[in-house]
Amino acid sequence: MIIPAFTLFILGTMVGSFLSVINYRIRHNKSGILFGRSECRHCRKKLTAFELIPLISYSISRGKCRHCGKSISPIYPLLELISGLLLLFLYMSYPFIGVTYAGITFFDGFLLLQYIYTAFVVLCLIGILFYDIEYLEIPELYTFPAIAIIFVWGIFSPTISLYSMALGGGLAALFFGGQVMISKEEWLGSGDTQVGILMGLFLGWELFLVALMVTYFLGLLITLLLMALKKVNRKSKIPFAPFLVIGTLISLFYGSYLIELYTTTLL
Ligand SMILES: [Zn+2]
Repeated sequence: MIIPAFTLFILGTMVGSFLSVINYRIRHNKSGILFGRSECRHCRKKLTAFELIPLISYSISRGKCRHCGKSISPIYPLLELISGLLLLFLYMSYPFIGVTYAGITFFDGFLLLQYIYTAFVVLCLIGILFYDIEYLEIPELYTFPAIAIIFVWGIFSPTISLYSMALGGGLAALFFGGQVMISKEEWLGSGDTQVGILMGLFLGWELFLVALMVTYFLGLLITLLLMALKKVNRKSKIPFAPFLVIGTLISLFYGSYLIELYTTTLL
């Protein structure tokens, strides 16, 4: 349990580092979004392999570029850490490595598939969260592939019913799309609607409703907190996708528990 969990954590930090590169390249319209060497965002110096070790490079260089000395945003190591932790937590939900017998380790094929699928969608959501925080926008490079994979999974997998998926996606389209139309994109952007539909399809309608409640609860709480700390005012633009993503993740991991808690204590 310890060795695979640790390996997945390391793998997650590497994917997180990759996500920050993808985000940077989407934003700056760089060709070769998936390939090519990373560079310092200030002096454009190409980074060596040593400077690209997730979390470690940042700690060794104390958050500064080794060439120009400018600070590197702590958002990047944070993205690496969160991606690592998520791959680790997901393994707790889908422990695909089975027993080792006579030197051979057995994998649970279906759990492995479920792990890969969930990790893919979750990492797209993390890419969206960080992109929206940094640039106040939601790139379709994440939403469309994630929605496509969710559809394929929904058709072939027994873990979620197509009915629940369609109802979740439909409710999300009505709820978020309606707000976009009524407010003419004042309250919400069409990117947020895409993330909302992704949530509804991914979670199914029951967990989607939980995610929605968590999202608005957190959104209100954090906004009031930021206003009290005078970090934002009524006119500030606060990215909404991070709340949608956190709501989705909480519902993914704890939604069933929250539903049970609600039905046993309140009904
Ligand atoms: Zn530099």
